[in-house]
Amino acid sequence: MITIGHFINGLSVAHEGRTQDVYNPATGIADKKVLLASKKTVQEAINAAQAAFPAWRNTPVIKRARVMFKFKQLLEDNADHIAQLIGQEHGKISHDAAGELQRGIENVEFACGAPQLLKGEHSRNVGPGIDSWSEFQPLGVVAGITPFNFPAMVPLWMYPLAIVCGNTFVLKPSERDPSSTLFIASLLKEAGLPDGVMNVVNGDKEAVDVLLTNPLVKAISFVGSTPIAEYIYTTANAHGKRCQALGGAKNHAIVMPDADMDNAVNQLLGAAFGSSGERCMALSVAVAVGDAAGDALVEKMQKAMTGLSVGAYDESSNDFGPVITCQHKDKVVGYIDSAEQQGAKIVVDGRHPKVKGYENGFFVGATLIDGVTIDMDSYKAEIFGPVLQVIRVDTMQQAMQLIDDHEYGNGTCIFTRDGEAARYFSDNIQVGMVGINVPLPVPVAYHSFGGWKRSLFGDLHAYGPDGVRFYTKRKTITQRWPSSGVREGVSFAFPS
Ligand code: NAD
Repeated sequence: MITIGHFINGLSVAHEGRTQDVYNPATGIADKKVLLASKKTVQEAINAAQAAFPAWRNTPVIKRARVMFKFKQLLEDNADHIAQLIGQEHGKISHDAAGELQRGIENVEFACGAPQLLKGEHSRNVGPGIDSWSEFQPLGVVAGITPFNFPAMVPLWMYPLAIVCGNTFVLKPSERDPSSTLFIASLLKEAGLPDGVMNVVNGDKEAVDVLLTNPLVKAISFVGSTPIAEYIYTTANAHGKRCQALGGAKNHAIVMPDADMDNAVNQLLGAAFGSSGERCMALSVAVAVGDAAGDALVEKMQKAMTGLSVGAYDESSNDFGPVITCQHKDKVVGYIDSAEQQGAKIVVDGRHPKVKGYENGFFVGATLIDGVTIDMDSYKAEIFGPVLQVIRVDTMQQAMQLIDDHEYGNGTCIFTRDGEAARYFSDNIQVGMVGINVPLPVPVAYHSFGGWKRSLFGDLHAYGPDGVRFYTKRKTITQRWPSSGVREGVSFAFPS
């Protein structure tokens, strides 16, 4: 049995204490356990980050960026190993894990531009002989708390940018699949990052609560489910911290009557079932406008889904893998049951998939449910499994109203050939990330990622330009060097 510890002050640390099993979700076997950090261990990580901050803050930004250039190279060199670690504990197929890593690396590439990103703003002669400028200074120790579903990418949204901006970091990854996250963090040491600048503590609520309340931690980036995001945001705020807390989702795709239906079906297959639907940007509801569109969509989806293959991460012909835990499998199946009991039609039933050689794995097959209505439990909740629900409406306005009324507002997409309709949709829909014939509109690393409504607590989105603002505080300096030309007498009026 392998024991997974922490990474503190440049060293692997494994203090005795509570542990949790880490499963291979394809086999259903727990062959590793992870240490759950005590308050003392988290304090040790915070202290290491605090001690490393003064020197790191004063390290020239170009030298900080050079660490990121090397880090990027190491990530690419180790990509196969990282994909394997992700597959073993998360279950996603290697090609999907490689994609996740690549999107994470793009955030490192963005961080490499720190000298440009941190140049600040300068105005000459704002008054007689007076110059004024704004600089963006690091905050100090900042922390990240991340979910299981992107163990490489989501942490990479956070710490490369935070670190390159001059902060030091404590990461608390998901306790369900910690190995790839821990391995990646150790590459930073190899890339030349000084000890203490990056620290990883594995753990659960006990560890998180130390990060949320310790006054040395100046900011919290969180990604996970909405109830926990809300708790993180309110607790961090109550302790005077800056916080961005990204939560759950229920992403709808509108399928218009004029859509290229074969294309929409292909896009929906990957967006609904890829990574077993365990993506915060997964499309889990298709809203068909008009019965003709609904019938065509369901018929084509049903046909296309017969070819899908669910299985273990290391067989590249598989389309997607198991869900994360046995309990989560039961939850997903429970929502399919409830939809059936509440009157929906299970068109393709993935509740009992047969995966040869992996009979004890946490598999759910691709499931298609038609005739879903907004009062059903399966519609209200984020299922986070390979389940696509179809709702039928008469007009695009009704489809948009459904989306606007839902508590989440992470991502959405419209499939149409009508540019006017698409423009109206993107202008008016109450959702943070919008796709037009693009099913997973995850912003690239040089934009920023974030939902609306109860999908994001906070103001600034994750990574990209908003990330730079989140991990820095603005200081504005106004300067005059008195000389005979500009020396003034006493004035009690407000300077204008
Ligand atoms: P989760 O909320 O259970 O856990 C996220 C993190 O919070 C983990 O590190 C976990 O250890 C910690 N945590 C859990 N319970 C806690 C508690 N009571 N107190 C303090 N910390 C706690 O989420 P998950 O199941 O790991 O991930 C799936 C969820 O994340 C989904 O809802 C998904 O939509 C969401 N997600 C959102 C985004 C986004 O960008 N909006 C991205 C990825 C995942």
